[in-house]
Amino acid sequence: MESAPSLVDPFRRAITYLRVSVTDRCDFRCVYCMSENMTFLPKRDLLTLEELDRLCSAFVGLGVRKLRITGGEPLVRRGIMTFFNAMGRHLESGALDELTLTTNGSQMHRFANDLAAAGVRRVNISLDTLDERKFARITRWGRLSQVLKGIDAAQAAGLRVKINTVALKGFNEDELFTLQEWCAARDMDLTFIEVMPMGDIGNEERLDQYWSLKELRARLEERFTVTDLAERSGGPATYVRLHETGQKIGFITPLSHNFCESCNRVRITCTGEIYTCLGQEGKADLRAPLRAHPEDDAPLIAAIRAAIATKPKGHDFDYSRGDVTGRMSRHMSHTGG
Ligand code: SAM
Ligand code: SF4
Repeated sequence: MESAPSLVDPFRRAITYLRVSVTDRCDFRCVYCMSENMTFLPKRDLLTLEELDRLCSAFVGLGVRKLRITGGEPLVRRGIMTFFNAMGRHLESGALDELTLTTNGSQMHRFANDLAAAGVRRVNISLDTLDERKFARITRWGRLSQVLKGIDAAQAAGLRVKINTVALKGFNEDELFTLQEWCAARDMDLTFIEVMPMGDIGNEERLDQYWSLKELRARLEERFTVTDLAERSGGPATYVRLHETGQKIGFITPLSHNFCESCNRVRITCTGEIYTCLGQEGKADLRAPLRAHPEDDAPLIAAIRAAIATKPKGHDFDYSRGDVTGRMSRHMSHTGG
């Protein structure tokens, strides 16, 4: 048995949050994310569902408390509910606090009840516009009505929904208040994401224009009393409250580095590479130890620890953080059963 299971990086940050991509495939082709003619990885390169289970379970064993499943589109991965159900055992055991996913919502009507039964309580659904034609344009292959059906299904299943909207100048600027009001009426939180310049995503009409969240916030302030919330997720999101509606609005500025000091997360790609910092290239292969030792997790755990030991400090590090280290290990050993 592990005596001190927590993962702590060289800067004393406890790693408690794992984001896992379960596929590179998607049924949409959002213009800021993919080119229309994507080449996907050969299936053999992807972690199998069993490997994903072993990998995530190893992290949970090492103190990860929150698991977010993403992609590509996680709900197009065949058999993905087997994996969610398997992770549900860690919620039941108390080892995991939260199992969640980020999805485009297109398959949510099929899976909402199963996800709730597996122990999922909250989902992030990406939606950039409430206009059918604009939706078809931005996602290339998506249908708005299907996503709206998915959102209905998620809420009917008792899942708390947060909408993620990429802020795009000249595209959804005019829908700021429509989206805000729609979310308020449906009791959904709303988070805006600043668009990140991506690699080769094809020859796009000018849809990928940068709309700064500072500017977006200033527009909210013209209509509402906007107060900053102290809460941080350990990631690039900050939150405000709109006094008049009580609504919480998030802002994700992925390129800012002012959250590094409290960064609690690492990411795994669908091929089993671990990225220890969103803003840096550092990565390590976890698939090799997984596949080379199908019966023995010790080499995998050693590789995870070695990767965490290389997690960079990031920018703007400051020593004023509270005492976060150590807490997870005690918590783990008390909630194991
Ligand atoms: N397919 C799922 C979805 O769309 O929610 C999960 C994966 S998707 C890559 C996760 C999030 O990244 C989505 O909210 C999407 O809008 C956002 N995203 C994709 N490309 C982006 C970019 N270039 N800049 C900012 N956000 C982006
Ligand atoms: Fe990318 Fe998600 Fe859009 Fe698919 S739905 S293209 S993964 S942002």
